Amino acid sequence: NFAERSEEQVSGAKVIAQALKTQDVEYVFGIVGIPVTEIAIAAQQLGIKYIGMRNEQAARSLPCCFWPRSHPRLGWYGKCKRELLVEACRLYTKFSARPSSIEAVPFVIEKAVRSSIYGRPGACYVDIPADFVNLQVNVSSIKDVERCMSPPISMAETSAVCTAASVIKNAKQPLLIIGKGAAYAHAEESIQKLVEQYKLPFLPTPMGKGVVPDNHPYCVGAARSRALQFADVIVLFGARLNWILHFGLPPRYQPDVKFIQVDICAEELGNNVKPAVTLLGDINAVTKQLLEELDKTPWQYPPESKWWKTLREKMKSNEAASKELASRESLPMNYYTVFYHVQEQLPRDCFVVSEGANTMDIGRTVLQNYLPRHRLDAGTFGTMGVGLGFAIAAAMVAKDRSPGQRVICVEGDSAFGFSGMEVETICRYNLPIILLVVNNNGIYQGFDTDTWKEMLKFQDAASVVPPMCLLPNSHYEQVMTAFGGKGYFVQTPEELQKSLRQSLADTAKPSLINIMIEPQATRKTQDFHWLTRSNM
Ligand code: ADP
Ligand code: MG
Repeated sequence: NFAERSEEQVSGAKVIAQALKTQDVEYVFGIVGIPVTEIAIAAQQLGIKYIGMRNEQAARSLPCCFWPRSHPRLGWYGKCKRELLVEACRLYTKFSARPSSIEAVPFVIEKAVRSSIYGRPGACYVDIPADFVNLQVNVSSIKDVERCMSPPISMAETSAVCTAASVIKNAKQPLLIIGKGAAYAHAEESIQKLVEQYKLPFLPTPMGKGVVPDNHPYCVGAARSRALQFADVIVLFGARLNWILHFGLPPRYQPDVKFIQVDICAEELGNNVKPAVTLLGDINAVTKQLLEELDKTPWQYPPESKWWKTLREKMKSNEAASKELASRESLPMNYYTVFYHVQEQLPRDCFVVSEGANTMDIGRTVLQNYLPRHRLDAGTFGTMGVGLGFAIAAAMVAKDRSPGQRVICVEGDSAFGFSGMEVETICRYNLPIILLVVNNNGIYQGFDTDTWKEMLKFQDAASVVPPMCLLPNSHYEQVMTAFGGKGYFVQTPEELQKSLRQSLADTAKPSLINIMIEPQATRKTQDFHWLTRSNM
């Protein structure tokens, strides 16, 4: 609070830090240089935690959205072609601006935070001119700006809620898709009630996992393709019909499937498919509206229906197929063997971060989540390099708010490479993270040492090594030991079990388990390929 000290001078850095503090920012992630260092120091002096990252991409993927009051993603840069950046960032953010003076900083930061957490959450960019940081201004010239109000909770139109309830009640093969919007909305209680009261099958998206636990009897994750393909009514809770959900189009869906779309973002309604009903509003509020409406007449979806039978049968056969793959004893291990052993030991309350290609896709089907907002996957654009940043943010928050909860970060060997130096960050702050590197010597697939040597016999690497290959048998665990953490190199299920047990028991140190798998290992055969232009 700068008021009543009219003669006093204050630095730009302090004004910026105070503006963040006023908006309840608790964590700042960054990479400092001159003059940004001053802002980080000023922030720390006000009790804000500053986490220095190593890789700009990892820093920019932060913070994450566990705590609605404290998750605005704000970016700032010290020196650059400022005019250009503000304009360039406008495309990718909800708000992008450069305060015209230090006096304007508190207003701009309040607006950035507000824009970031209101409506569909998203990143904002505030560009601070470098010379502001060390400039001294009169304390009395800085006006107090209040902390922005919590986001308003909006409800859907009553008539739309009535229509939605009747569409649900008339469904022959209903399905709920629970997306990350449901997690953001803290809708776990209301959605679980909807699922259980009306006995509706549900499917979580990757980051919607845990809103209702993955092991819930009504979770049909193991029959994902089947559920999407034959549902006649789908309620979409905060998930976009983008490529991850196959655009809502045939052959992955019935041509006449009725979508009931629940979303907070009006512009999202009707993307790719014309919904039968649109419910614009906050998912938690809208779900409560739906519950109230459905409650008016006694109804539940028949648990003995043919639809439930089909789904259960498909789940059973899919689960058996993965179990069969998991139980194979040949070495090197395959993905399923690795993930089944990991799943067996995962604490139920841990955060799971995951990135890679096969590692993320297969891991998603085997590694379970029981709590909402405990899953972080590389998102819609499949951006690699965000995993370690996510893990660091999750661990930071876990340390403060749910001590004892571990962060398990499952990385492909290629994905790990994008931000591998963040291991130093993890060790610097001694974060309770267990990194698993599922190592197949390559991107998608790699080669074993013998094939590698054979390839290099007559020619140099750049002319013969397939672009997907990475150095075989790399000892990524030594990246961890280099900074004082624990490293394990494992090749067998027994070694994996043992090292994981030790890592979980050792709460004092981060660890990295480098898990060697069959370089040509892949996922089990799929009925469909991703929908692309060529097979649309
Ligand atoms: P997923 O990866 O789980 O499919 P997406 O990022 O595709 O998630 O979609 C999430 C959707 O959730 C977005 O369209 C967003 O507007 C919406 N959303 C976010 N927060 C809320 C909320 N509180 N209430 C309703 N919808 C929300
Ligand atoms: Mg999505």
